[in-house]
Amino acid sequence: MQSNTNDETVGPPLFTELGIDEEIEDGRDILSAVDYDTNLGISMGQDARKVSEGELSSERFWEKYDEKAREEFGVDYENTPNPAVDHTQDQTIDEEVAENLNCDSCSLDSVAGHENLTTNQAETSENNTQEDSENTDEEGTPRWGMVIDLQKCVGCESCTTACKAENRTPPGVSYNVVMEREHGDFPNVTRTHVPRPCLQCENPPCVQVCPVTATYKLDNGIVTIDYDRCIGCRYCLIACPYGARYFDFGEDYEDEFTIDGETKVAEYGKERTREDTSGHAMKCNYCYHRLERGEEPACVETCIGDARYIGDLDDPDSDVAEMANEQRAFQLREDQGTNPNMYYLQ
Ligand code: SF4
Repeated sequence: MQSNTNDETVGPPLFTELGIDEEIEDGRDILSAVDYDTNLGISMGQDARKVSEGELSSERFWEKYDEKAREEFGVDYENTPNPAVDHTQDQTIDEEVAENLNCDSCSLDSVAGHENLTTNQAETSENNTQEDSENTDEEGTPRWGMVIDLQKCVGCESCTTACKAENRTPPGVSYNVVMEREHGDFPNVTRTHVPRPCLQCENPPCVQVCPVTATYKLDNGIVTIDYDRCIGCRYCLIACPYGARYFDFGEDYEDEFTIDGETKVAEYGKERTREDTSGHAMKCNYCYHRLERGEEPACVETCIGDARYIGDLDDPDSDVAEMANEQRAFQLREDQGTNPNMYYLQ
């Protein structure tokens, strides 16, 4: 089954046409159930997007919000160096900072080096991940990127199902959704399916806005969340222009996801329980625990249309880098300045 026809030239889907803008427009709904200041969250989220767009500097952002954040978050904020202020310009967290922060999720092994990752992948053959891992940068650190070929995506949502099964996300949380765009008039109607995980932005507003550095970008391009640091303010849900962040309200499915009375999930190479994740922001991390084992993310592995690819965008010979340079490649909402490590082929 092919989604697109030759009757119409299909351009990059606009987010408004996909209906996502309406879904994430009113941040008050997302913030209303928490004690933290709703207006502050909306203002910080909007300004964090301006930082990504280049309209506001990171330093100016924190000058503007330093006092308010101090009032609102107290010691949680004061004791946390924010990478946007204190560390690298590209918001990557390094080993020293991770150590100072006592980071847990995706912590030092992942931040400092990727020897295990590279070794594991070198042993894994017959998948796109392995091919790309052979050519990492001189430190052995790939920049993980994903490419989705919209001509191949048939909208079956096996990626969504695989993601839920792999990450055991709670009710109402789906790291990977498939949006639909229908265009044309009967009988010349076409439909495009656009899967949307977290796009692992190079300039992530979700990282900029976090007042306690619970979310940060690793030097391999993956934006991660440390559940031990996250205070559940949800400001990152406002900042993300793609609606890719969720909040774990602690709801659970009944028996099907329960092991020994507790739902467990592997995230960032560590087994986590519902207690770990409840009350925190959540999102896709390209199945980092699988990458560490030399496996593809669940959505890539299960895609029946072979529409999804994962690899090292910094390796010019990798499949994903070559595809990202194709004429039909585009990023979602390029106007946002987020520069996602996620490309679509129209
Ligand atoms: Fe952050 Fe992912 Fe949203 Fe980008 S798509 S702003 S990295 S949550």
